[in-house]
Amino acid sequence: MSEQISHHIPDAIMAAYVAGNLPRPFALVVASHVSMCDECRANLLAHQAAGGAVLEGMAEEKLSGGMRDRVMGALDDAIDVEPEPASRQGIYPGPVVDALSGKPPKWKKLGGGVRQCILDMGNEGSARLLYIPAGRPVPEHSHGGLELTMVLQGGFSDSTGHFDVGDVEVATDDLEHVPMADEGEDCICLAATDAPLRFSAFVPRILQPFFAI
Ligand SMILES: [Zn+2]
Repeated sequence: MSEQISHHIPDAIMAAYVAGNLPRPFALVVASHVSMCDECRANLLAHQAAGGAVLEGMAEEKLSGGMRDRVMGALDDAIDVEPEPASRQGIYPGPVVDALSGKPPKWKKLGGGVRQCILDMGNEGSARLLYIPAGRPVPEHSHGGLELTMVLQGGFSDSTGHFDVGDVEVATDDLEHVPMADEGEDCICLAATDAPLRFSAFVPRILQPFFAI
């Protein structure tokens, strides 16, 4: 599956993930992608090894034995964000299975056939599953800052390219993007945003020819 993935986790996001600095909703996307992508798993291990080497050197030079143990213990904790905590279930990577507590998603209708299932919402942002019928657009939404979207089933396209199963789109709020689900198969995505994602003006838009109804 990995060789079909063409949109990966950017290095800066991977570094933040390994350092334990990535907000939880984004960490869920990274862990899910890494569980499906050999290339990013290798990059993750390289970051972990580099971080470990820095701390090892620091520990030998400056830290007493007790402090050294605590630092190395903290490092182990940081690395504990494991990419495959649960087994994959169908289209859902292990980290998503965990976020769902092993149960099928409880979908809520957003209109136009689009559905969502919120996995995580808090001060750090939100993570959700989005279900977009084949050939339909993702409803227009606003978000503050960063948005990571990973395809779990089907695919979508927008002005930046085409995204297949396993691919991750990295969008910032300066990107005007209207993702459109591929024809033929309903699209299911895992989406993380660093502010509560607000679907705006969906009902008026549903009347527009844009939706082809
Ligand atoms: Zn990757």
